[in-house]
Amino acid sequence: EFQPADRLDGIELSEIVRISEQAARLRAQGVDVIALSTGEPDFPTPSHVVEAAHRAAIDGQTRYPATAGTPTLRSAIATEAGARPENVVVSTGAKQVLSCAMMATLNPGDEVIMAAPFWTSYADMVSLAGGVPVVVSCPATQKFKLTPDQLEAAITPRTRWLLLNSPSNPTGAVYSKAELQALGAVLQNYPQVWVISDEIYQHLSFVPFTPFVQAVPELAERTLIVNGVSKAYSMTGWRIGWGIGPAELIKAMVAVQGQITSGACSIAQAAALEAITAPQGLLAERRQAMRARRDLVVEGLNAAGLECAVPDGAFYVFPKTHAKMATDHEFCRFLLDEAGVALVPGRAFGMPGHLRLSFAYATESLQEGMRRIADATAKL
Ligand code: PLP
Repeated sequence: EFQPADRLDGIELSEIVRISEQAARLRAQGVDVIALSTGEPDFPTPSHVVEAAHRAAIDGQTRYPATAGTPTLRSAIATEAGARPENVVVSTGAKQVLSCAMMATLNPGDEVIMAAPFWTSYADMVSLAGGVPVVVSCPATQKFKLTPDQLEAAITPRTRWLLLNSPSNPTGAVYSKAELQALGAVLQNYPQVWVISDEIYQHLSFVPFTPFVQAVPELAERTLIVNGVSKAYSMTGWRIGWGIGPAELIKAMVAVQGQITSGACSIAQAAALEAITAPQGLLAERRQAMRARRDLVVEGLNAAGLECAVPDGAFYVFPKTHAKMATDHEFCRFLLDEAGVALVPGRAFGMPGHLRLSFAYATESLQEGMRRIADATAKL
């Protein structure tokens, strides 16, 4: 009989994947389902980026790339960040950057502090690497953000990382410069604690965005910045992300990557290079489009009795479940069955009692989704 390794205990098929599969099953049965459940922009990858990939393939950029990333992409990322190429690792998505960081640094029992609600994968990545996720609850009343007092209370001698994500998946919360500085001030007293700042939604901020290292330059020597092309450039399938941090950390992460995947796809790296070095006008255009969608869903959800704050970034809203429905997953089930709308229950992000809706979909789908949610909740 097949026995998975102990390290898989408690690691589940992501709830987001499960919802998407359920929606696909219903669709296959002929039910007209609107899925507002995945974190993926509906825009196409820009055509000049696709063309750069063609060129790279035809030019013969088809061999094993350097493990840490192609020299041109590493340099471009470093230049943009005011860092050096040895401070940069390119990986198969931001997801692999995070995983490699965990595997390269955590010993069994080492702790990683994360603010709930958090992106589902964080806790599992830490556990898979033998670490212990330390989850701090940050409810809507504090705008889903970690406070300096909470951070201080969560730190122990075993704390290795504070994992920050701004703009946040699933809440859209964005930390201001002052808020980052207040967290940084706490960390000044705990030199054993390093910071991961996951800034993958940087270009989808509707308020001024402050990179962590800009707010707290004095912690740069123990900060890993995570970013990538998936969300900003609609390149989720190309699987390119990167980490920027102290050279010794990057070296350790490259060692891990070298034994797991080697360098990320050479053709996708050429495409990513084009994405970040070509004129960037499209970022503002897409941000504007997302902002209009945000306003549409915030209004629609509140009108349907789902209390929903206005997010400052990313492409998610995180409303409360309907007052007449007991739990978030029952309410999601209800919406799927009654309205044919797929959302993700908040418990998948460490905060039950909420739902996550992604508004990275066409306006017509969002309008139809809002209509259906309003009709279904009116029956409660
Ligand atoms: N970080 C956050 C907060 C995300 O929401 C996601 C994707 O959902 C990622 C990282 C992973 O991005 P990538 O597609 O580059 O692996």
